[in-house]
Amino acid sequence: LTAPGERFEMETIDIRGVPTRVWKNAPANLRQVAQLARTHGKRAFAIYEDERVSYEGWFRAVARLAAELRSRGVEKGDRVALAMRNLPEWPVAFFAATTIGAICVPLNAWWTGPELAFGLANSGSKLLVCDAERWERIVPHRGDLPELETVFVSRGEAVGGERLEDIIGTPSDYDALPAAELPEVEIAPDDEATIFYTSGTTGQPKGALGTHRNLCTNIVSSAYNGAFAALRRGEEPPAPVQKVGLTVIPLFHVTACSAGLMGYAVAGHTMIFMHKWDPVKAFQLIESEKVNLTGGVPTIAWQLLEHPERANYDLSSLEAVAYGGAPAAPELVRKIHEEFGALPANGWGMTETMATVTGNSGEDYLNRPDSCGPPVAVADLKIVGDDGSELAPGEVGELWARGPMVVKGYWNRPEATAETFVDGWVRTGDLARLDEEGWCYIVDRAKDMIIRGGENIYSSEVENVLYDHPAVTDAALVGISHPTLGEEPAAVVHLAPGMTATEEELRDWVAARLAKFKVPVRITFIEDTLPRNANGKILKKDLGAFFA
Ligand code: AMP
Repeated sequence: LTAPGERFEMETIDIRGVPTRVWKNAPANLRQVAQLARTHGKRAFAIYEDERVSYEGWFRAVARLAAELRSRGVEKGDRVALAMRNLPEWPVAFFAATTIGAICVPLNAWWTGPELAFGLANSGSKLLVCDAERWERIVPHRGDLPELETVFVSRGEAVGGERLEDIIGTPSDYDALPAAELPEVEIAPDDEATIFYTSGTTGQPKGALGTHRNLCTNIVSSAYNGAFAALRRGEEPPAPVQKVGLTVIPLFHVTACSAGLMGYAVAGHTMIFMHKWDPVKAFQLIESEKVNLTGGVPTIAWQLLEHPERANYDLSSLEAVAYGGAPAAPELVRKIHEEFGALPANGWGMTETMATVTGNSGEDYLNRPDSCGPPVAVADLKIVGDDGSELAPGEVGELWARGPMVVKGYWNRPEATAETFVDGWVRTGDLARLDEEGWCYIVDRAKDMIIRGGENIYSSEVENVLYDHPAVTDAALVGISHPTLGEEPAAVVHLAPGMTATEEELRDWVAARLAKFKVPVRITFIEDTLPRNANGKILKKDLGAFFA
C-alpha cells in the first residue's frame, strides 16, 4: 500500500451478481487493517486529554478484548453494540468485535435512552460496550433487552454490568498489556462487519449493513482523492507521511469511522479526540499537537474560520481542512485556502455507501467550488429522472451511486432494501447533476431531511413524535437557515379543536423522546390545517414563511 501506481490498480469481480470494479490492493478485511496498523508500533494512535495510546498499546488492548469477547460466546455474525463518545476505547472495541467476525453496531452517542434501546433491540445485540453516560440512559430499558447478555462499561459506575477497565485497563495501561495475537477467525471480504443506523423516511432508523470490503475500499479511495487530484494536475502524488488529525466528528458516523479511522490506522496517522466540539479548544490542540488535518462538516470549518480568537493561535501546521456530509458554500472553499493557507477538500457520501464516493480537493476544488467532485475510480454515478431513465449531463435528477462501497442493504428490512438498492445501485434521495466530465453537483434533496451542522434529522421521525402528543393533529418539520449550522429544525403545528399546548411543552415532549439536536428550535401554531398538494403531501416550501 505504498506506491501510487500499485495502489490504484483495479480489477472487476462479481459482487452479489453485479460485475464491480474493486481496488486490487485494498486490505481484504479488518484483521489485515489491524495487522498493518500494528506495524506503526510506538507511534501515537490516539490522544485524548492526558491519555496517549500507541499503536502497539491499542493492538494489545484489541487482542485482549477480542479474546474476552470470544470467551463470552461472541461468534461470527453476532452483534456487538458500541455506545460512547469519541474515546480511545472506541477504536479498541470496534476492532475487537470486527476482527473476530462479529458485526459491530456503533450507536449514536447523542441518542436518548429510548433511541439507544431501539438500536440495541433492533440489531439484536448480544454484547454492549459503552461509557457510563450512555449506560445510565440505557439502564431503565434493560428489561426490554432480553438478547443483551453482557455489558462492559467504561469510565464510571457499571451497575448491572461489568467494568471495561477490569478487562483491558485504562488507556494509559494499554502499553503494559502483554503482547498478544488476534484470536484465529476466517473472514471473507464480503462478510458483514458493521450496522450503522441512518434515520429513514418511515420514521424509525434503519441499520445499513456494511461489509469488510465496504470499509477496506474506503482506505484506498480516501488516499486516492488527494493523490489522484495531484495526478490530474500532472504532479507526482506526495509520498505518504504520517500526519496528526483532529478528529472532531463522532466515530459513530461512517465518515469518521470509515473514511477517517480506517485510513488513519493504515497510514499511521494520529487521531486527537475532543470531549466535545469547542473551537477554542480546537485552536489550542492544533497549536500544541501541530495538527495537520481537520474538518468534518462545513459547520466546523466555518466556526474555525470565523472565531474571533483564531488570530491568537499558531495554526500554521494545518495542511488540509476536509469535510462532507452537507452542502458547502463556495465562499467557504475560498476562505479556507486564503485564511489558513490549507487546502480545502469536500466529498459526498452517505451511510449506505460507507462514506467516500466522490472527492474534490486542492486546486481542483478552488476551480469548481460548487462540486463535490468526480466519483472515485471504483464508483459510478448516474442521474435518474422521474420516469426512471438516465439523464444527460447538466440535467437535474436523483443521484444513484454504485461500487464496492455500497452496503448490502438494511438490516432485517427486505422491503426498504428492495426500494433503495437496485442492481448494485443505491438510490440516494439527493438531487444532483453531473457535468460533461462527470463531476457531481448536489443541488437539493428529494428526501425530507434537515442537516443541522452535519447531523441528519429526518422530518418524519420528529413529526411522528409530535403527532403522538394528544393535542397535536397536524405537524410539519422544516429547516430554517442558520449562519454556521446550515439549517436548524423548526415545526409548524396545528392543535385539535379545544386542546392547548405551549411551545415549551411540545419541545420538552420531543426532547424526552429524541436526541437534543432533533428538537425544533421554534414551534409555530397555525389555526388552519397545513397546506397540502392534491396528493395530500404537505407543501413544505410554503412553510418557511412562518419563520421569516
Ligand atoms: P449520512 O447518511 O448521515 O451520511 O447523510 C448522507 C446525506 O448527507 C447525503 O445523502 C446528502 O444529502 C448529504 N451530503 C453528504 N455529503 C454531501 C456533500 N458533500 N454535499 C452536499 N450534501 C451532502
